[in-house]
Amino acid sequence: MIEAITKSEDLDEILKKHGHPAPRYVAYPSPNLWKDSPPSGERIRRLRSVLSRGMSIDLYVHVPFCSRLCYYCGCNTEIRTQKPEYGDKYLISLRKELERINLCSEGMPRVSSVHLGGGTPTFLSENQLTSMMSLFREFLEFNPEAEFSVETNPETVTPIQLETLRELGFSRISLGIQDFNRDTQWAINRYHPYERVRFVVETCRNLGFTSINFDLVYGLPMQNSQRFERTVEKSIALEPDRIALYHFAFLPEKMPHQKRLDAESMPHPHEKLRIFETATSLFVSEGYLPVGMDHFSKPEDSLAEAFKCNRLKRTFMGYVAKSAKNLLGLGPGAISYLDGAYLRNSPSTIVWGNALDKGGFGQDLWHEQTDEDRTRHALINELLCHLVIRDKELTETMGALAQGITRELKSFARDGILKRAEDSSSWNLTRFGRPFARTVARLFDSYKMEALDRAPCSRVA
Ligand code: SF4
Repeated sequence: MIEAITKSEDLDEILKKHGHPAPRYVAYPSPNLWKDSPPSGERIRRLRSVLSRGMSIDLYVHVPFCSRLCYYCGCNTEIRTQKPEYGDKYLISLRKELERINLCSEGMPRVSSVHLGGGTPTFLSENQLTSMMSLFREFLEFNPEAEFSVETNPETVTPIQLETLRELGFSRISLGIQDFNRDTQWAINRYHPYERVRFVVETCRNLGFTSINFDLVYGLPMQNSQRFERTVEKSIALEPDRIALYHFAFLPEKMPHQKRLDAESMPHPHEKLRIFETATSLFVSEGYLPVGMDHFSKPEDSLAEAFKCNRLKRTFMGYVAKSAKNLLGLGPGAISYLDGAYLRNSPSTIVWGNALDKGGFGQDLWHEQTDEDRTRHALINELLCHLVIRDKELTETMGALAQGITRELKSFARDGILKRAEDSSSWNLTRFGRPFARTVARLFDSYKMEALDRAPCSRVA
């Protein structure tokens, strides 16, 4: 696919035109454009409004600790030695956060899904994980069909922790693999031999986890398409239900620890596109369905079903088969989306904990979406989830701007990134175009220049 395009077009020219930075668009506008601290009581007012309408919420809980820093890390984490006191103190603050919510809201929030993310949620011991779930059950009500998912590091998670998570109701697990290549693992300061991952996967299967996701990352040091092919083959051999193949966001000016990576040994943008295409070919040839712009899933998995039925959703937790309209985020850096507004907890565990000690929430950013934000975000989500831009929605959302945008879409089509549907009612992202999805999405972003001025975004290739 790439070779064919290289012959008819100059790949350099395509990358020059369309390979520039773009936000991730899990939120719209991007968090770097949100305002400082929300007005006092805003989170509770919005939660009350959600609860008074009997609406369910999704719950995201951020566990902000890791025992070692991966040099590519783009997450909100604090590196700590594996001592119980960090987890204990964190759980005390988490209880305060839930107590504050409980005191101020009428009735218990009803939860339709729980996701533990990080950091590394399994930095907490099995006893601490059990205490955490008891806390949730004390302050929250769970829908009978609620789904529980957790992210973990295959290098450090123990069989007892996996057993505990399973007993606590977790059935979905995501393993941060990134790459099986030892050179890349050394370069990014993350080490997990293939046999170790195989052991974790087998343990999860034996315990009855119903969905196992692998996170892979391309664009890291020492990668090329031949080497990454081995990683994909090894992944396929372990039969994960889903794979997320993320493009590495190299932003050393924003995340100084990334300066420890050797930029010279990172693959050239041409090679990155080759890695993505090679991985796509292999996953597809083994029966995986490409989902959204960078995921793959077994055809029988609910993610593939949601994609096929145009029900796929994109949230702060990535692509999901279903989601509630509202999200309650707990823990440092966690984002809530309540009644049309984003509210972020302070990313610092100390600031978040101190604010809770003083009876506040420690929220440092917020944004109330306007109607225009919502319709533009819907258009962006439709592109990033189902790879389609429908003329009708384009005209309805963008009004007078639609004509100019259509000219731009034609330019993407000339470069093989989009193609016109046979019935001429929509534009579809091509297989070659999937890595450029966020660049296309920028056409619908009214904040794009402001966002790029305020904070750097990752390139798309
Ligand atoms: S395990 Fe994840 S969150 Fe922790 S340092 Fe590594 S990449 Fe960052």
